[in-house]
Amino acid sequence: MQQTEKTFLAKSEIKAQDLEHRRKINFNMQHYEAAFERGRQQFSDMPTARERAKNVKWRAIENLDKYLEEFEARFTAQGGHVIWAENVEQAQQEILKICREKNARTVVKSKSMVTEEIHLNEFLEKNQITPIESDLGEYIQQLDGEPPYHIVTPAMHKSKEDIAELFHQKLGVDAGLTPEQLTQVAREKLRLEFQQADIGITGANFILADIGGVAVTENEGNARLTTSFPKTHIAITGIEKVLPSLNDLALFWPLLATFGTGQQVTVFNTIFTGPRGDTEVDGPDDMYVILLDNGRTQILKDEAVRESLYCIRCGACLNACPVYKNVGGHTYGTTYSGPIGSVITPHLRSMPEYKHLSYASSLCGNCTAVCPVRINLHELLLINRHESVEAHLGSGSEKAAWFLWKRASLSRKLMNMASGKTKDKVIRKLFSKAWGERRELPVFAPKSFNQMWQENKAGR
Ligand code: SF4
Repeated sequence: MQQTEKTFLAKSEIKAQDLEHRRKINFNMQHYEAAFERGRQQFSDMPTARERAKNVKWRAIENLDKYLEEFEARFTAQGGHVIWAENVEQAQQEILKICREKNARTVVKSKSMVTEEIHLNEFLEKNQITPIESDLGEYIQQLDGEPPYHIVTPAMHKSKEDIAELFHQKLGVDAGLTPEQLTQVAREKLRLEFQQADIGITGANFILADIGGVAVTENEGNARLTTSFPKTHIAITGIEKVLPSLNDLALFWPLLATFGTGQQVTVFNTIFTGPRGDTEVDGPDDMYVILLDNGRTQILKDEAVRESLYCIRCGACLNACPVYKNVGGHTYGTTYSGPIGSVITPHLRSMPEYKHLSYASSLCGNCTAVCPVRINLHELLLINRHESVEAHLGSGSEKAAWFLWKRASLSRKLMNMASGKTKDKVIRKLFSKAWGERRELPVFAPKSFNQMWQENKAGR
């Protein structure tokens, strides 16, 4: 068993019994669910909206090369720079190069999972550049020295009391502040950072091929400050975030807002098409877009799991997943957690190291049911399992268990010899190592069908 799997199982065991964690998560999830129910009313025909969204993403991903080149040509013509990064190291080095050219000492960031994926904060710190998170949730997580817990709500696992205590400990403010006071504290601290930062870094919710634009959606206005105060703006994004046209946002912005946070539309929606123009008063002198592959073309190559690239990172599948709600976001030990994380991480990183995540699912299908772009998440988890078995990555004990199971099942004599109770015991013994002690296993009937049939025929 790989160390990643052992760690995942050990952390899951602890988290699943942590009732306080469950209480906080359930509290926050209930808020999300209520908001989602209200937000979804704006769609008169939700199934069609989701089907259309899936079709748009299908077209975008099937023609990814064409749309990315279209984006590059237009964005470059508007004065921006496009950088292609194959992996984490290349992305880090490109960002460092820009920071060095601009003599940057401080970088202000808005929320971006791709910067988590490339471990940007740690990398910048190692190079004596201070990264400041400006999204409130990310700011809280940075203060606490933790990665985001959830792809949309980074501090979902913390209560308002936890955050008040954290601010008291780390920032020296009074204990027991209210959420409004805490927000005010963060706002005051961050204003200064925005003014002093040399570079602003954002992610991208979508990249728009036909206008060469980067679409960013947010609720706090921090992404706008990140991109307007500093003289340089770097947007880093996965290559799968492309949409063919600006017009597609008419569907995707409300869809992301509703499935992400239950809003009709997010508060601030901005499209960046390059650096500040001659006639414009706001905006950076220079703008760079880094298009990150980092394993995405591996997924593209694999037709069976390709549709996982349709994901718009709304987080709805995490909120719907009974496993995520019990073990929590940090247990996965990956940038992307929950069902979508379990699907893509084995492909983005390594199947031998992360295949176990594809088994961290009850296969209830709730993730598929809630996905706005109708990704067949639970089917993709099964495909991952299949691929890992085909690659002979299963554990020795599970292989032995299936071998013995098959031998016994094919033997009428053996099946009739053992009672139901004996079979229950044998099955538990065989599979408990591979599947864990707590897995609910099928209970055998006291007699086999064949025995009952024979008895019936004999009139007993
Ligand atoms: S897989 Fe679907 S539900 Fe999950 S984050 Fe992506 S778009 Fe949202």
